[in-house]
Amino acid sequence: MNDKPTALLVEDEPQIRRFVRAALEDEGWVVFEASGCRQGLIAAGTRQPDLVVLDLGLPDGDGVAFLADLRQWSRAFVIVLSARTLESEKVRALDAGADDYLTKPFGTAELMARVRSALRRQRQGHGGSGDGQSGIVRFGQVAIDLQAHAVTREGRGVRLAPTEYRLLAALAKNAGRVVSNPQLLREVWGQHSINNAHYLRIYMGHLRRKLEDDPAQPQYLITETGVGYRLAVPL
Ligand code: CA
Repeated sequence: MNDKPTALLVEDEPQIRRFVRAALEDEGWVVFEASGCRQGLIAAGTRQPDLVVLDLGLPDGDGVAFLADLRQWSRAFVIVLSARTLESEKVRALDAGADDYLTKPFGTAELMARVRSALRRQRQGHGGSGDGQSGIVRFGQVAIDLQAHAVTREGRGVRLAPTEYRLLAALAKNAGRVVSNPQLLREVWGQHSINNAHYLRIYMGHLRRKLEDDPAQPQYLITETGVGYRLAVPL
């Protein structure tokens, strides 16, 4: 048995495959490659990777369809690669089950910051309640108790309106991952509100004022412009 984490790289551009493979191998990952959707799904089935790095622009199919298929049977951490201008494509990929995205071109530091979230999940093991559905999520001086629905800052209780708490909990349950605007709006306000992105701006402002040291320069409640929000937690 090999307990090194395994990654599958689905990308049709050889130079990107080389660069990502080298970065992952440097940090101890075993890397498998595929150059298209069909080959990628077969490799995912046989290799059961902990991480999938998936280019959305593949020659033989749609990366979002790939994701929908993969998510029927795999909990691998999925990072999608996408072009800068395609915000709606990133949102579709997140809604289809991607955990994170990188905008091309990207550097090693950016890639490995995302990969560390994947590694954390791999170490926590698959299945079970590894999604942070229960337990306590901490960042800075803040602790969120998802079972007690209680938030403290420097040990003192923080008063949050019910909507503020639901938004914070939606991010905390996905700590470290990008959650798309439609996902957040659906979860917190309901399906009929998925076009009301301004709710998110308003309520994220409230949360930052209550939880960030400098609400104008948030360290934890991060905006992913045009795509969604992320609770950045220390790894
Ligand atoms: Ca491509």
